[in-house]
Amino acid sequence: MKSLEKLPKAKRVKIGKEANEIKNFLRIKFDQKAQEIKEKIKKEAEEKEWIDITAPGKKPILGHLHPLTQVKRKTEEIFQAMGFSVVEGPEIETEWYNFDALNIPPEHPARDLWDTFYLKDKLVLRTHTTPVDVRYMEKNNPPLRIITIGRVFRHEATDASHEVNFYQLDGLMVGKDVNVANFKAVIQEFFRRFFEKPVKIRLIPSFFPFVEPGFQVDMTCLNCEGKGCSVCSQTGWLEMMGAGMVHPNVFKNSGLNPKFWQGWAFGMGFDRLAMMKYKINDIRLFYSGDLRFLNQF
Ligand SMILES: [Zn+2]
Repeated sequence: MKSLEKLPKAKRVKIGKEANEIKNFLRIKFDQKAQEIKEKIKKEAEEKEWIDITAPGKKPILGHLHPLTQVKRKTEEIFQAMGFSVVEGPEIETEWYNFDALNIPPEHPARDLWDTFYLKDKLVLRTHTTPVDVRYMEKNNPPLRIITIGRVFRHEATDASHEVNFYQLDGLMVGKDVNVANFKAVIQEFFRRFFEKPVKIRLIPSFFPFVEPGFQVDMTCLNCEGKGCSVCSQTGWLEMMGAGMVHPNVFKNSGLNPKFWQGWAFGMGFDRLAMMKYKINDIRLFYSGDLRFLNQF
């Protein structure tokens, strides 16, 4: 169009007219094509966005709580209903709280019962949750009722019933006249509600440095209900926990006067409790992250 000016006048009129016609023709064609493309895009978008509201919904895949967490919550619920508070303590513990305060001095043979992970600066990975009892008694005056469920560590070879890291349940009840009868009632009730079956317990004299007297607690075998089977070696009883009346030295180390206060404490492997409830035969399954196992809960 710009070069039209350079043409002689006679030619300019004719070519100018033709150029204008071509220009208009192209404009119309471009506009038509643009409209077509616009409509095509619109149609495609509508097809994509269309929702069939009659189609059945897709169920989102939800995870769920780990079996140990489920059992932990159930345990806490049962004890809380009996007036116990749920407390926690550090997993990295001082030697004092893990041993000395619990009446296990450095030369005491009981320290050899556990293969402990020793860290720097007199710190250890706690071998049990009992140190939490001392920490709690230091800061709270009796009467008190607490449980603690937490991770503990032992340097052990792993097999179906041993892990280097597992959970322990500890309980403590202290008052002016708290006694073994209270202990029997509380623990029997806990087992009954936990396993949802009537159970009996029995106490057998045993030794733990932080209690006096100490006892091992057996429960009627859930498998045979006390008749005797292979699970309970034909005895009708299963060993469940260690317990006893809190040793006067533990009270002293916690800043309480053993002349005024008395109470009981117990400790038990928590994984084992879950294994019994769900009939799980290998503790390592809890920590393997295997979905074939976890999806069953
Ligand atoms: Zn049995």
